[in-house]
Amino acid sequence: MELSNRNDIKNFLEKQGFVFKKKLGQNFLIDGTVAPRMADFSADENTGVIEIGPGAGVLTRELSSRAKKVVAIEIDENLRDILSKTLEGCRNTEVVFGDILKTNLHTLISDKLSDCERITVCANLPYYITSPVIMKLLRENLPIESITVMVQKEAADRICAEVGSRNAGAVTAAINYFAEAKPLFFVPKESFLPAPKVNSEVINLKIRQNPPITVADKDFFFKTVNACFHLRRKTAVNSISSALNTDKEKIVAIFKKIGIPETARGETFNMETLAKLSDELLPLI
Ligand code: SAM
Repeated sequence: MELSNRNDIKNFLEKQGFVFKKKLGQNFLIDGTVAPRMADFSADENTGVIEIGPGAGVLTRELSSRAKKVVAIEIDENLRDILSKTLEGCRNTEVVFGDILKTNLHTLISDKLSDCERITVCANLPYYITSPVIMKLLRENLPIESITVMVQKEAADRICAEVGSRNAGAVTAAINYFAEAKPLFFVPKESFLPAPKVNSEVINLKIRQNPPITVADKDFFFKTVNACFHLRRKTAVNSISSALNTDKEKIVAIFKKIGIPETARGETFNMETLAKLSDELLPLI
């Protein structure tokens, strides 16, 4: 059976009594060129790969043939028998059933991947949890080198935008603190079964050794970033004042001090401006 052949996989899953669950973001890859390209970016014989959401195992098999070890985390227990069939013979691969958002990845890495020279993450992410998953991977200070994930095209554009440009959002700056994001390749919606409503893109996040800016309080920096984008159509002063429940006059004074126009919007701020703003706002909160 060809796992990325539409009819093969459809018949196989039907025979196994599998029903796709929209709420779990189950859109399986049926374009045979995508998984090998993703795997090429993530795995070699020295790499331990964490995959999120193996589904029927199409990407898992490609990772398995290139990596030293693969640990795949899948929430849907109904895929247990299916995966034991499709991953037959993949001796370096283990599937762990559970919710990625509740998984202790430090323990998983030290228990299962400590003999690997480098660790990466590769996934066709369930779209309903794209940002929480990426932020979990970045914020937990894990010993991972890079993250290669398929996300909705719109999310990819946002994540990979330049901080300070029109397309940027809170997630752009938050991710930029931890990693360099770049788009790899476009994947049309017809490449999935069932086809979702939107197109996708594979992106790569290369984890930084050190953040690009220094701030007094890292957690408050992320609060400041969110505050700047809290009311997207309003000026940053209004947005911050509403999000942090602070007097507008005090925020205007800080803007003057660091030389930001009072009418500026959050998306125009680069990382340095966001860092300065965070440090100046901190004593107010
Ligand atoms: N990797 C497969 C592929 O490319 O065909 C499936 C990708 S599908 C977009 C997303 C997968 O993530 C599904 O198998 C789904 O059950 C799984 N999933 C959804 N929520 C999850 C969670 N919280 N933790 C782990 N896996 C999850």
